[in-house]
Amino acid sequence: MKDLILKNSNEKIQLNNIICVGRNYAAHAEELGNKVPKFPLIFLKPTSALIYSGDNVIMPEYSNELHHEIELVILIGTTIKNAGLTEAENAIIGYAAGLDMTLRDLQSKLKEKGHPWTLAKGFDTSAVVSDFVLKNDYLLNNTEAISLKVNDELRQNSNLSLMLFKPAEIVKYISSKMTLSKGDIIFTGTPEGVGKVEKGNELFGAIENVGKVFTQIK
Ligand code: MG
Repeated sequence: MKDLILKNSNEKIQLNNIICVGRNYAAHAEELGNKVPKFPLIFLKPTSALIYSGDNVIMPEYSNELHHEIELVILIGTTIKNAGLTEAENAIIGYAAGLDMTLRDLQSKLKEKGHPWTLAKGFDTSAVVSDFVLKNDYLLNNTEAISLKVNDELRQNSNLSLMLFKPAEIVKYISSKMTLSKGDIIFTGTPEGVGKVEKGNELFGAIENVGKVFTQIK
């Protein structure tokens, strides 16, 4: 099983589940022709998808449209179920910058058929994470800048204040549907500006005061 790397700590936390939120920024929902959801839209990635900042994203040969999605990732530190908002907030112990790499052509076909997104979202190397900054070292205030460059081109440039559902609300909601445990990580959705990447492209993602994530497409 993979470990999550913590900043300023020798402790490592074993990865448990990878849970993701879709359509959590209005402008991104709209750019893909989707409505803004009333509840967080939840999907999963397998743990085999996880790689670390500095590792390469391997583009599967069965897709011609690999997209970048820069996202805040939150780390769960305790077991919770049916949490209230305070308990949900207290269960969050850290944050990272992450890339939810997505096979958009495959996702569009799956959406058309009403099928799950799993194969578009869960391929090997599709979940890239920076080291996690612990809440003891930095408390998120939800006004941090979030951005992504492909080579030298700024593609995504937004702010966590534009998230439709904030981290504690997301954790509260997910815990009403499934037990959350230490080592679960949650990708919290991407702002607008998603787009295609090609082999050889270098991706630089950043969330102010949280972390930086880098990968090259192979
Ligand atoms: Mg996403």
